[in-house]
Amino acid sequence: MSEDDKLRTYRGKRHFDRTREPSGEHTTRQRGTAPGRDGTAPDPDGEPAFVVQIHDASTMHFDFRLEVDGVLKSWSVPKGPSTDPHDKRLALPTEDHPMAYRDFEGVIPEGEYGGGTVIVWDRGTYRPASHDKKKRPVPFGQALENGHATFELHGEKLRGTYALTRFHGREERDGGSAKPTWLLVRTGSGGGKDAGTPDPRRARSALTGRTLRQVAEAPDAPRWEPDGGEKE
Ligand code: MN
Repeated sequence: MSEDDKLRTYRGKRHFDRTREPSGEHTTRQRGTAPGRDGTAPDPDGEPAFVVQIHDASTMHFDFRLEVDGVLKSWSVPKGPSTDPHDKRLALPTEDHPMAYRDFEGVIPEGEYGGGTVIVWDRGTYRPASHDKKKRPVPFGQALENGHATFELHGEKLRGTYALTRFHGREERDGGSAKPTWLLVRTGSGGGKDAGTPDPRRARSALTGRTLRQVAEAPDAPRWEPDGGEKE
C-alpha cells in the first residue's frame, strides 16, 4: 500500500484550509535523499522516528507515534507512557499520520477533528527489538501485525525498552466490530526516581519548552522550525 493510501483516513477526517496540521502531501521521507518539502530530513543512521504528543482535546491524552514504512503508526494513550514497568497503559490505535506530524505543535480549531492544543512532548528514534522464538529479528511492521512489538526508545525523555501488545480483538477488517486494544508497557528494568508520567498540564514541549497553556495562548509564537518556516 502506498503512503497516499495509508493516509486516506487521516486526510478524510481533516479540513486543511482550517487546521494547520500537515496534509502529508509529497512529504514522504525518502531515505538517503534530499529532505522532503516539509523539511523532514533523511536520517543518516536509518533509525526510524518516534514522537509523543500531548493533546488537550475533548479528553486529555497522549498520542504515541512510531515511524513504520513511511508513515507514523499511531496510538492514543489516555494516561501516557510510563517509565514504570509495573504500569500497563491502554493504547488505542488511531489512523496513520504523515511523517511531518512529528513537528506539529499548535492549536487545532474547535469544531475540527481533534480540536484542541497539541505539544510535542518527546521525540527521537527507536530501534526495533522484536525477535522470534529462534531469536531472529522480526521486521517491525510484521511484529505489529502479529500483535506484539518490542522496541528501544531513544528520546529526550523516554529511554529504554517498551512493548506494544494487542490483547483484544483484531484489526478492524471487513467491517468487523471488534476494536483492537493494545497495552504499552516498559519492559525490563527501569523506573527509578523518574518513574511514571508527568502531569500533562505541567509537561513541557521537547521542541519549544512550552506548556500546553503557553501554546494555547500564543499558537503562532516563534518556534523552532526544522526548515526555517511553515510552507504556507
Ligand atoms: Mn490525539
